[in-house]
Amino acid sequence: MLVLAAACVTTLCLARTASAFDTVVLDPGHGAHDRGASIGYVFEKHLALDTARRVEQLLKQAGLKVVMTRSRDVFIPLPERAAAGNRYGNAIFVSIHYNYNRGGSGNGVETYYHHSAGYSLASYIQAYLVQRTRMTNRGVKTANFHVIRNTTRNPAVLVECGFVSNSTERSRMLTGEFRAHIAEGIAQGIVSYRRSNR
Ligand SMILES: [Zn+2]
Repeated sequence: MLVLAAACVTTLCLARTASAFDTVVLDPGHGAHDRGASIGYVFEKHLALDTARRVEQLLKQAGLKVVMTRSRDVFIPLPERAAAGNRYGNAIFVSIHYNYNRGGSGNGVETYYHHSAGYSLASYIQAYLVQRTRMTNRGVKTANFHVIRNTTRNPAVLVECGFVSNSTERSRMLTGEFRAHIAEGIAQGIVSYRRSNR
């Protein structure tokens, strides 16, 4: 009984912490001279910014406040991005990237967290992203990426929205329609995560 009571108290505390967020810090990866993954004229920095802008619009429509670490093609050092993730009390941090591997065989989407506080958010985003895009589910994973390691005040995740190095995925991600689907998956994941914690 004691154990059960302790577990309930813990659950309530977690729920109260998570339900409080009203701000989403969106972090489009790379920028300016830092192109990120690139094949020919297809640069990750452009894809990430366009996708984040679409997520921004959807979240604002859902009544959330959105802070962008960059909203144009500029270079933002990683510590500044994490600082933005730590700036607000009632927030979550979502970094948006596209993936790359040598040989071009890698495919699918994956969502990373570092601190356990980000696990649930990562799970929601990954599930809705897969559902909306029908892309290969590479799963929810942990990683030591700077922005999610150093965003400690709020749940923080990093989403890899498909492989620039994969010719099939690259041709899909070059269409606005497909990037809209990716943005819808991410936004739906965020909104559902928020609802789940109310
Ligand atoms: Zn990247």
